[in-house]
Amino acid sequence: MATKSCVFLMYHELELPGRPLCQSVAGYVRYILPVEIFRGQMAWIEESGWQGLNVGAALRYPDGPSVCITFDDGSETVLIAAAPVLREFGCNATFYLTAGFLGQPGYLNPGQVRELDAQGFEIGCHSMTHAYLSDLPEPELKREVVDAKLEIEQIVGHRIEHFSCPGGRYDRRTLEMARRAGFATVATSQFHANSPGVSPYELGRVAMLRGLSLEEFGATCQGRGLWKKRLAHELRRGAQRLLGNRAYDRLRAVLLGDSQP
Ligand SMILES: [Zn+2]
Repeated sequence: MATKSCVFLMYHELELPGRPLCQSVAGYVRYILPVEIFRGQMAWIEESGWQGLNVGAALRYPDGPSVCITFDDGSETVLIAAAPVLREFGCNATFYLTAGFLGQPGYLNPGQVRELDAQGFEIGCHSMTHAYLSDLPEPELKREVVDAKLEIEQIVGHRIEHFSCPGGRYDRRTLEMARRAGFATVATSQFHANSPGVSPYELGRVAMLRGLSLEEFGATCQGRGLWKKRLAHELRRGAQRLLGNRAYDRLRAVLLGDSQP
């Protein structure tokens, strides 16, 4: 029998007609899906007999085809646009929040976070200030991982178990800090499916990009073609290592008008 595996999808803000995005640079918008496209993807999940799960449920690797749905950053659109669509198609999701963004224009406020939590969605943590964690000295790393966890726990009134890395950047110290903080999992932006053999402290996720066709979406859920995305990702990471995060970002900004959510 084949080993159970599950692809974790990574979404960000959703685009709604007439609503300005939290950021407008090309590299950000690349990660933003119009709500109708997202709705089509969730409809595909239900119509294909799949389950759309949050991180906690996905890691129990239930029988039958399933995909894990995650959102980074904590845009307000996750409550006003994503949550109703998820409920419509019987899906759940994990929302990784950047603690320091809460209450800022375009992002969830603490009351809205409690509402998402009360609706039965899973709340996770995406750092305090969205800093790239592999660059940080120990005290700042602690603030991004430990203090952010406590802040979100204060808001929802219960434990937060799941963490995701801003811009997909992390190192061994990041994972160790997350483990010591009491997180049960860390999600990265590495393009691989997860299975019981994968470390819960290094879960792969696939970024959902604007312009992905429904056919490509189905293939992604099935884990097909991930090696191509992984190869492109490895090339980017090689360039990052070679240049360092800051120089790499400057280069991206020059070439693409880019920043990573
Ligand atoms: Zn992010």
